[in-house]
Amino acid sequence: MIRSFDYGPVRYFRMARTYLGRALYWTGVYLIDGLLVDSGPPNLARAVARLCRELAVRRCVTTHHHEDHCGGHRLLGEQLGIPLLAHPSGLARLARPETNPQLYRRMVWGVATPARAAALGDWLETPGFRFQVLHTPGHAADHIVLFEPERRWLFSGDLYLAPKLRYLRADEDIYALLDSLRRVLALEPQVLFCQHRGRVENAAAKLRLKLDFLTELGERIRALHHQGLDENEIARRVTGGDLLWRVWTGGHFSGRNFVRAFLRPRPPTA
Ligand SMILES: [Zn+2]
Ligand SMILES: [Zn+2]
Repeated sequence: MIRSFDYGPVRYFRMARTYLGRALYWTGVYLIDGLLVDSGPPNLARAVARLCRELAVRRCVTTHHHEDHCGGHRLLGEQLGIPLLAHPSGLARLARPETNPQLYRRMVWGVATPARAAALGDWLETPGFRFQVLHTPGHAADHIVLFEPERRWLFSGDLYLAPKLRYLRADEDIYALLDSLRRVLALEPQVLFCQHRGRVENAAAKLRLKLDFLTELGERIRALHHQGLDENEIARRVTGGDLLWRVWTGGHFSGRNFVRAFLRPRPPTA
């Protein structure tokens, strides 16, 4: 299922695989001035390729290597000859086949096929726009956002998602994420374009809510740890029930991943 939203020069295509008529997990791609931001999940790659043909997409930029964001790459690159761009730290990962993705990921998104992308520089230009490329690791090591300084637009990939996250992936680096949020906040974005949520107004205030929520969560987790509580007990107190998600994702997404992430040794710069 694909739904289209028009935000002036920005178009958002929200998409999900459906089961019995219900969307399993919404994600999306943006199109601005011939530039496609992400390429959707592997199981919707053909539909995205059709869209790209109709809409004369000239280039595709990847916000990060997760399959719900780069699943159409192979088709777009090889069959349509659309140049693919990604952060230099993600190129090798994008070109490698995925080994043993968790069952829930295969069911919801499918498995991404390897694709060759070229390295992004510090700026990305289209005929009518100029975007600053910011490396924003945390959610993924190769995560980037695009910032359009005149309109203060932020194409945020998975940097935002929600002001209060309930679950974290097992491989997220929470301290890098906090640092990325601070750096992006300093730009005072006005509108953000989230891959899963669509357009979000008052972008800086929303990102600030997320930063404050995570900072406070980290303080509570560390305080309980100093009192001698174990990981399970801390998770129960600060993140509530996550059993369903833990089981469904084989532990890949859970509330207790916050506890693990905040109790990992803190890098000296954070
Ligand atoms: Zn992601
Ligand atoms: Zn995502």
